[in-house]
Amino acid sequence: MSERVAIVGGGVIGCAVARELAPDYDVEVFEKGQLASEASALAAGEITMLSSYEDEPAVGWHAVDFFREYDGTGEFSYTELPSIGLVTPDREDEKRRYASRVAADDLPVRYLEREEASEAYPTFDFSDHAGVIEHGVSGFVDPYTFAITLHHDARDDGATFHTDTAVHDLLVEDGEVTGLETEDGRAEADHVVCAAGWRTREFLLEYTPIPVRPYRTQCIVLEPETPLPDGFPMGWYPGEHVYFRPEHNGDFLIGGWSFAEENPEGASGQADAEFRNHVAELVPTFLEGFEEAGYVDGWAGVDGATPDTRPILDAPADAPDGLVVATGFNGRGVMTAPVAATAVRSLLTGEDAPFSLDTFAIDRFDTRSDDFEFISISAGN
Ligand SMILES: Cc1cc2nc3c(=O)[nH]c(=O)nc-3n(C[C@H](O)[C@H](O)[C@H](O)COP(=O)(O)OP(=O)(O)OC[C@H]3O[C@@H](n4cnc5c(N)ncnc54)[C@H](O)[C@@H]3O)c2cc1C
Repeated sequence: MSERVAIVGGGVIGCAVARELAPDYDVEVFEKGQLASEASALAAGEITMLSSYEDEPAVGWHAVDFFREYDGTGEFSYTELPSIGLVTPDREDEKRRYASRVAADDLPVRYLEREEASEAYPTFDFSDHAGVIEHGVSGFVDPYTFAITLHHDARDDGATFHTDTAVHDLLVEDGEVTGLETEDGRAEADHVVCAAGWRTREFLLEYTPIPVRPYRTQCIVLEPETPLPDGFPMGWYPGEHVYFRPEHNGDFLIGGWSFAEENPEGASGQADAEFRNHVAELVPTFLEGFEEAGYVDGWAGVDGATPDTRPILDAPADAPDGLVVATGFNGRGVMTAPVAATAVRSLLTGEDAPFSLDTFAIDRFDTRSDDFEFISISAGN
């Protein structure tokens, strides 16, 4: 008989881990609501793993390879596009040095002068900018379709998903997990993977404090005067707390404006008026055709932040044996899901992962407190 793995949380991480493990384990996923109905459904779907892991290219490439290969599975598609970071004149030298340094590490990054950038990306008005940093390999997905495709794969390999089933506690005997106490009763398991998003800290507090705190982040979709053209890139505006990408229908998605959230259960699901105003003023300064843009939609969601913005993928030494934690995705959980799934497999099986797990180990932090300063990744650099 296969060993049993119980997963707490059916977001994109729980679904990715279930898919990864289902061929070799008896997997059960417990989700208190519906699958991918929290942060995972609200994500912008940006996949910018190479720029997020320049210091660990094996992590970035693992995710990129996965998305390229998974493209076309079921309804899932991955759209690959370059990303550009706008460079203000005061940061030109710094950004040129940066581009040379990372390009020397074989990453697909280059510095484009303002004229070159204007030619490559004619919808932009770069008059306030010295140029752009272009990342050649990035893209986007529909996050809900991604999670549900992972779920279907896992289910086809025998995983069971229990929705509307809250997990109340771990079951622990003699320092080892033996399963979960759910609202429907006990579920026995040899291993437990906690992928409960920002709620992971509270859920595990008496067993192993996890340095994760909730933060709230937002998206707005605008309809420009004419649909964005083919080849319109993804990008970000350093210092303005925004990133952006095209939608398949030519609309424009802009996200960011992230802040620590003290009241995550009661946090508004709407985009803030301040964010709407910021977007309305900012976007026409660097894009043509947005003076009369229409407001299509706006929303906000809560995710879990860590002190260094990277997730915790680990079996903490002070936790009961058999417990693995996958949380703190800090605005990058969709793009990091393939990495999280591989890391969890490695932690359970002892197989080597194709990247170092040290980056994700909980003991990289000096304390387990959640009283740390929140770093917004959408502030950009
Ligand atoms: C507005 C916004 C934009 C974003 N944009 C991007 C982006 O462009 N790219 C990107 O990669 N990431 C992005 N993110 C981040 C991404 O959405 C998250 O990092 C990712 O969804 C985290 O996945 P998860 O499965 O850990 O969490 P969640 O989706 O929050 O899933 C956790 C699940 O656990 C369940 N759960 C919790 N406690 C229990 C319990 N006790 N019992 C049972 N179930 C429980 C919850 O109901 C929830 O469904 C964005 C997030 C937001 C909000």
